[in-house]
Amino acid sequence: MKKSVDVALGDRSYQVHIGAGLLPKAQGLVPPLQGRLAFILTDENTKVYGETLKAVLEQTASAVHVMHVPPGEETKSFKWFENVVEWMLDHQVTRQSILFAVGGGVVGDLGGFSAASVLRGIDFVQVPTTLLAMVDSSVGGKSGIDTRHGKNLVGAFHQPVSVIADSDALKTLPAREMRAGYAEAVKHGALGDAAFFGWLEENGEKVLALDPSALAQFVETNCSIKATIVAQDEKEAGRRALLNLGHTFGHALENAAGYSGVLLHGEAVAVGCVLAAQLSLRLGFCDAGTLDRLRTHLKSAGLPTTIRDIAGTASYDPAALVKSMYGDKKAETGGLNFVLLNKIGDAFVQRRVAESDVLAVLNQSIQGE
Ligand code: ADP
Ligand code: ZN
Repeated sequence: MKKSVDVALGDRSYQVHIGAGLLPKAQGLVPPLQGRLAFILTDENTKVYGETLKAVLEQTASAVHVMHVPPGEETKSFKWFENVVEWMLDHQVTRQSILFAVGGGVVGDLGGFSAASVLRGIDFVQVPTTLLAMVDSSVGGKSGIDTRHGKNLVGAFHQPVSVIADSDALKTLPAREMRAGYAEAVKHGALGDAAFFGWLEENGEKVLALDPSALAQFVETNCSIKATIVAQDEKEAGRRALLNLGHTFGHALENAAGYSGVLLHGEAVAVGCVLAAQLSLRLGFCDAGTLDRLRTHLKSAGLPTTIRDIAGTASYDPAALVKSMYGDKKAETGGLNFVLLNKIGDAFVQRRVAESDVLAVLNQSIQGE
């Protein structure tokens, strides 16, 4: 079963192709490759998918070059950006060449930024192999690398020409990574689609068990929700900010955990969404039932919902967490901004939230509530 989602961005529009068994048929899902050079960027854990794609592309491209980068966030660096760009230049990349990023968010972000930069921009195809990358980074065109000042601080908006989300790749994805990707989907439902949230409560278990039809519908709905928001606001001036639900808290927790693997991004988002709901309740926006539904569902998916659920809690100092929130690039001057909830499916941006309220919910969460 094959589905697709249109990401409508004028002359930068593209399709996300979703289904099982797509990679061996990738030829029909990308622009014509006759006479063009193809580059495949992948990591050590996903190179089998890079090989499958290589065999397909070799049928038409003039040549196919493959590069493996080490897995992990450290690869989203100036050093690897340089390595990737110089690798393409070593192989006589031209403006007609095309880069395929086969992997999770790390490969996608690094590949997208390299494609945006080399020769001032070449075509780029994303082949996400994690659930997180399928439901999140495959729509929206954000790419970039990390610096010593923080994550994703250097990058570009560079839309792919096509995205191929082959659910067969998820068969080798560790269960913990699968759950972490699922958290971003719960976020999508919570911030803008109550019906989808209800669908998740019914079908989430099937998705996590890799049921092909549930999975295809899941990825399709997620991509549609995100595509609709991105089409309205490509450069994040307004509504796109709602996609940051749970992320101001989440980034602070990731920062404190040191990107060490103790806390995956999606896990931080799960705890962050619960904290956002707790803050919403405290400030009189949502009711206790909304918080409870969100927490119960995340828990049932095997995700952490309090700071206490995260290993190494002793090091989480509420004041330090608040301090790092001020450093988040999405914060404006004059106070902390949060995406809050009125109810499931109805989120908004609240500006200048008092620090005392933020500290109160952090303390609660550290105690495991
Ligand atoms: P994301 O930000 O999408 O979670 P990462 O690029 O950080 O992605 O990937 C998370 C981890 O999962 C990395 O170690 C990566 O190599 C590994 N990985 C990605 N896709 C697969 C897959 N399909 N099978 C097995 N491991 C994978
Ligand atoms: Zn996220």
